[in-house]
Amino acid sequence: MDIFELEKEYLIPFYRRQRVVFVRGEGCWLYDENGNRYLDLVAGIACVSIGHSHPHFIKRVEEQLRKLLHVSNLFYTVPQIELAIRLREITGMDKFFFCNSGTEAVECALKISRKVTGRKKFVALKNSFHGRTMGSLSVTWKEKFRKPFEPLVYPVDFVEPNNIDDLEKKVDDDTACVIIEPVQGEAGVYPLDEGFIKAVFEERYEHDFLIVFDEVQTGFGRTGKWFAKDHYRVKPDIMTMAKAMGSGFPIGCVGVKNEVAEKVEVAEHASTFGGNPLACVASLATIDVIENENLIENSDRVGRYFMERLREISDDVRGLGLMIGASFENAFEIVNKALKRGVVMNATSENNLRFVPPLILNEKHVDLAIDVLNSILKEIN
Ligand code: PLP
Repeated sequence: MDIFELEKEYLIPFYRRQRVVFVRGEGCWLYDENGNRYLDLVAGIACVSIGHSHPHFIKRVEEQLRKLLHVSNLFYTVPQIELAIRLREITGMDKFFFCNSGTEAVECALKISRKVTGRKKFVALKNSFHGRTMGSLSVTWKEKFRKPFEPLVYPVDFVEPNNIDDLEKKVDDDTACVIIEPVQGEAGVYPLDEGFIKAVFEERYEHDFLIVFDEVQTGFGRTGKWFAKDHYRVKPDIMTMAKAMGSGFPIGCVGVKNEVAEKVEVAEHASTFGGNPLACVASLATIDVIENENLIENSDRVGRYFMERLREISDDVRGLGLMIGASFENAFEIVNKALKRGVVMNATSENNLRFVPPLILNEKHVDLAIDVLNSILKEIN
C-alpha cells in the first residue's frame, strides 16, 4: 500500500503533509510504520499536551466509552456538568457552551457578541488566525485564506497589533466585539504587549463592546499559566478554547461572564456532538493530568530553558511557556531535515519555526532538539 499515492487519489488536496506515516505515540515520542522514533515538538499543533497515550487518559476515556458515548443535548449528562464546574475553577469564566473545534468556538463567540450588543462590527488584529469557517475566517487576517471565499461576514476592521492609536481609530459604538489572540500563534508566536491589552479594556469602558480572548491555542497550560489571559490578569467577556482541551480528543468550548449568558436565548445556538460524555471525560482527564503532574509549572520552566537554548542559535526568539517562535532562515528545509534526524518540528513561514511540544517535555529533550538544529544549521551554511 503506497499511502502517499492513495492520499492523492482519495483525499481532497487541502493539505501539504510531511512524508511520514505515524502509527503510535508514547509520551513525547512518535513512532512511524517502520518503528523509527521521533521527538514530537508539535503535539498535533499544540493539542497533545499531556503526551501521547497517557495511562490516566486512556483509562478514563475507555471507561466512559463502555458506559455512554453520545446522546445529544436533548438530555442531561453528568460529565458535561462536571467539566463546566472544573472549567469555572480554572478559567474564572462563569458559564460554558461546548462544541468540537476551535473554529466552532469562534463562530459561537461572534454570534453571542452580535446578539448581546445588537451591533454588527467585529474588530480583529492584523496577523490574526481564528479559523476557517465563514465567520472565523472573516476575522482571520491572511488575504490568501479569505479572498477565494468572499463575500464573508462583514463589517470587520483589522488593527495593527500593539498599536493603541490604530485601536482607538477602529473601535466605536458600532463595535460588537474586539477579538484577540493574547499570543498570536499561527502568525509565528507573538505575545501582545500588556499596555495594548490594557488599552483594549479601557476602550471597552467608552464604547461598551465585548472583549473576546481566543485561547484556542494558548489554553490549558501551554503558556506556563492555565490561560494566557492570566499573564495579563484580566477577565474577558468571552473566551474560546479547543486544541489542548482534550489533549487531542476533539472538543471546543466558549466561556462567558454571567451578564453575557443572561442575554442569550434557547435555540440561538447548538451543536449535535458538542459536550458529549466521551469528549468531556477526555477533557476532565486532561485537566487531572495537568494538575497532578504540575504541567503548568513544567511548561513555564522548560519553556524558559528552551528559549534560552534557542537564543544561542537564533537572534529572534519569542514566547511564553512551551509556546515558542524563533526566526530561522529556510525554516521549511530545516523541518524536513529534522524529520530525517528524528525530530518533528513545524514552520509557520519560510523564516520562522514554532515549537508547541507536549507539556511533559524536559530539559534533555530540549538539548536533543538543539543538537539536531545545530547539525542542520552546519549542513545548510
Ligand atoms: N483560533 C486560534 C487562535 C487557532 O490557533 C486556531 C487553529 O490553529 C483556531 C482558532 C481554529 O481551530 P480549529 O482548527 O480547531 O478549528
